[in-house]
Amino acid sequence: MPTLFERIVAREIPADIVFQDDRVTAFRDIHPRAPVHILIVPNKPIPTANDVADEDEALIGHLYTVARELARREGIAESGYRLIVNCNSDGGQEVYHLHLHLLGGKPLGPMVASKAQ
Ligand code: 5GP
Repeated sequence: MPTLFERIVAREIPADIVFQDDRVTAFRDIHPRAPVHILIVPNKPIPTANDVADEDEALIGHLYTVARELARREGIAESGYRLIVNCNSDGGQEVYHLHLHLLGGKPLGPMVASKAQ
């Protein structure tokens, strides 16, 4: 079964795609948590951060250069932004297709809401 994000990459289900090349696709989150909330995903389905392979290093770097470029295009590069990867249940991962959240456009507050324990 293809993941939800594979189907977005393949344009089988609609999404507001803001960038796509042969390695990654970026689209606006359907439930934005900030004025700018973009998901940057590898076109191939890596389920979680645990599944990143040594040969994926260049691909993972590409996710970050695309994030940098989108932050500039969205006008948040100088004001600042947050890049997040959630992994598995404690990380709050909902979609098991690796993705980088690009969040910005307002002060984002503390990195996590609760105390360490
Ligand atoms: P996670 O919690 O896995 O790190 O984040 C998954 C994100 O995918 C959530 O922020 C959620 O709002 C977003 N999302 C879930 N389904 C869809 C969808 O069908 N379209 C888009 N554009 N975003 C989605």
